[in-house]
Parts: sequence; C-alpha cells; structure tokens
Amino acid sequence: LSERLSGVFDRLTKQGALSEADVETALREVRVALLEADVSLPVVRDFVKAVSKKAAGQAVTKSITPGQQVIKIVHDELIKTLAGETDPGVLKIDNPPAPILMVGLQGSGKTTSTAKLARRLKEREGKRVLMASLDTNRPAAMEQLAILGTQIGVDTLPIVKGEDPVAIAKRAKTQASLGGYDVYILDTAGRLHIDQELIAQAAAVRDVVSPRETLLVVDGLTGQDAVNVATEFDDKIGVSGVILTRMDGDGRGGAALSMRAITGKPIRFIGQGEKTDALEVFDANRIAGRILGMGDIVALVEKAQATFEAEQAERMVKRFQKGLFNMNDLRSQLEQMLKMGGMEGLMSMMPGMGKMSKQMNDAGLDDRMLRRQIAIIGSMTKKERANPDLLQASRKRRIAAGAGVDVAELNKLLKQHRQMADMMKKLGKMGKGGMLKQAMA
Ligand code: GDP
Ligand code: MG
Repeated sequence: LSERLSGVFDRLTKQGALSEADVETALREVRVALLEADVSLPVVRDFVKAVSKKAAGQAVTKSITPGQQVIKIVHDELIKTLAGETDPGVLKIDNPPAPILMVGLQGSGKTTSTAKLARRLKEREGKRVLMASLDTNRPAAMEQLAILGTQIGVDTLPIVKGEDPVAIAKRAKTQASLGGYDVYILDTAGRLHIDQELIAQAAAVRDVVSPRETLLVVDGLTGQDAVNVATEFDDKIGVSGVILTRMDGDGRGGAALSMRAITGKPIRFIGQGEKTDALEVFDANRIAGRILGMGDIVALVEKAQATFEAEQAERMVKRFQKGLFNMNDLRSQLEQMLKMGGMEGLMSMMPGMGKMSKQMNDAGLDDRMLRRQIAIIGSMTKKERANPDLLQASRKRRIAAGAGVDVAELNKLLKQHRQMADMMKKLGKMGKGGMLKQAMA
C-alpha cells in the first residue's frame, strides 16, 4: 500500500511543477511591477530572465497557484539581490579617528544624512563625532550643518572663511585627532550633475583623509538616474556604501534594486524623513516587498509553505512512531539538509561549529556527499527504497553502477540508514513520540 501511495505522491509532485507557461504568465506581471517601481529596464530584463530559469520545474506548494508560487520565488530572489554580505548598519569605524566621506549630487540629502548618521553613531554607539562641511559653494550649507550639529549635540568644525575643501579636510583630520574624536564625517559639496570639477574635488579630499567609508547619498525617488550617478561616483572616487534618501516618499524604491544589480555596492541606510532621527538600517526584506508590491501574495505563499512543511513533518513523525524509516524517509532527510544549506549551512548556524564544518568539508562530508547519497537512493527501485533489506550483492552492484559510485559507498549509506532507523524506533517508543516531535519542530 505504501508503495502505491508513494507512487501517487510522485505523480502529484510532477503535476505540481511549474511549467514554462506558468512562469511566463506570472513574470509578465512581475515585469510590470518592477518597471512601475522604477527599476531600470536592463536590470528588469536580466532579473526576470534569471528568475525564469530558476523557477521552471520547481514544485508548487499545495493550495497555492503556480502564479503565486512564481511571485514568491521572485520575492526571494529580490531579497538575495538586495542584501549585501555584511550587516548594513555596521560601519568600518575602528582605529579612531575614522574618516567618513559623504558624496552625492546637490539636494540628494548629504547634509541631512551626515547629521542623521552622526546622531546615530553618538546615541547608539556612544561615539564621539565631529562633523565638517566642505561645501564652499554655498555659505548657507556650512551654517546648515552647524545648526544641525547644535540640535543633535554633535560638534562641527569651526567655519573659516575662504578655505578650500582640501584645507578644510586637513583641518578636520587634525582636529579629530587632537580632540579625541572616534569618527569625523566630511559633508562635501554637490552639483546638480556630475562634472569634472566636482569629481576632482572629491578625489582630492579622499586622498587627504583616506576615508574608512565613502558613502554615496542618492535620492531614492530618482530611480534610473540614481544608478548612473552611483556608477560614475564609484568609478571615479570609489564608494563603499550607499544611503538612499526620501524613502518616505511615494516611490517604490526600485532604485535600490538597480543600484545593487549594477554597482554591487551595499545599501547601508535609508532616509525616512527630514528629521535627524529618520534614518533606518537598510532592510532587504522590507524593500523587496515594497518594490514588488505584492506583499499579500508573498505572505500567503509563506503560510502555505509553512503549513505544507508542518504537514510533512507530522507525516514523518507518525511514520517514525510506528518505527518506519525507509529509504524514502532518509532521502527526505538528506534533501532537507541540502535545502538548509547543506552540512556547512547547518554547522555554521550552530555557534562554535565553524571549525568542525571545515574539518567535515576536508573529510569530504559536504554537499557533494549529500547529493551523491540522494543519487544512490534515486537508483534504487521503489521496492528497494521501501524495503532496503532486499539489497543483496547483485542489486547493490546495479545501484552503485547506476549512481556512479562504488559499492563501499552504498554500504556506508545503508549503515547510516540502519543507525538512523534504530534511533527512530527508540525515539518513537518514548512516550508517544513527544521527544521526536520536539526534535522535528
Ligand atoms: P544636500 O544638498 O545633498 O546636502 O541635501 P540636503 O541634506 O540639504 O537635503 C535636501 C533636502 O532634502 C532638504 O530639504 C532635506 O530636508 C530633504 N531630505 C533629505 N533627506 C530626506 C529624506 O530622507 N526624506 C525626506 N522627505 N526629505 C529629505
Ligand atoms: Mg549639503
């Protein structure tokens, strides 16, 4: 009976795989959503292509439509593209005094962001911060920073009339050392458009202070333009991170995706208003939801997937309680491990296991092994999977050859299966599997 059931299950999962047509239809909607969010056209094109490759053939979770499933895949891929490798809220500001250089076009929000960042570093990290305005184009700009400094209780470099930006930067550096500051933030002048003079000036300042972080401030409402600006600044000056401002506006934040896809620079913070406390650490998850604008569907799919996984786990628990643990069960377990990032992923989630994971890797106990083991089980017939006791020498040779391994490796897998089956039996006997349920939760 169980064989017949598992046959039905196989057919079901095949039927429930995403077809090319499903993916095509859903991605048409996604394309529109991305363009409406002001993601630049080439980025939309590449992104959609990458997702369609990934989505085709994936299994559809019970109780949701293929279209909904594709949107969830898109959402996850968005998060992956948007998120950088490091914690966006943590700046490289060890070795005091650490210089931070703020660059960007005029009106992008540099001065405001300088004050916001200074306030954050002071209040959250207890840093002593010095701010200096290098904006010699507009005298009011220096005043603006000084006023903000008074408001938030952060020192600003005294204004000296007639100094050029490089001289101010040098003075800020000296003052930051002498004054025992942890961080000094240089707020530069912007232009309406990038020009040679602006770039030359920023580069000269950079060479004087060697900034630990060069943060590009970009108006998040400018969409496609933002990317051109970012590319230019990065080429000419070198940018270590991005602050997207005006994310409190109506825009859907597509600039964030274009920026990440094209420049690869991490987005560190977003500006959420004019006040000095309106700065938030960039959250890929939230921005992904905003860009796609299909949060309801994503939530629905997540719920369906969680339910499905819970049902699967429940089904497994019931089997184990009866002392049942065949090759199909083992395969599910191995697949689960792969899904969770393989051995290394599992290990890296446990504190202090980093070294162990490396040792396991060196010993060949890595994803490749998991995949090989799954392949071995795949070469068994349904009967053999349901009842591994059938496996005598000739069957073993056939299976090993089919999976491209030697019989020793198959034997190792069988031993592993026996050990796990024994363990399951013991666990199953313990008080109606309460412990087992816990272990699987
Ligand atoms: P700068 O020329 O790059 O120094 O730009 P400013 O810091 O002077 O900002 C220009 C204008 O944008 C000011 O009126 C700011 O109050 C406003 N601004 C800056 N950041 C934000 C933000 O995140 N949200 C909103 N709504 N306004 C902002
Ligand atoms: Mg300014």
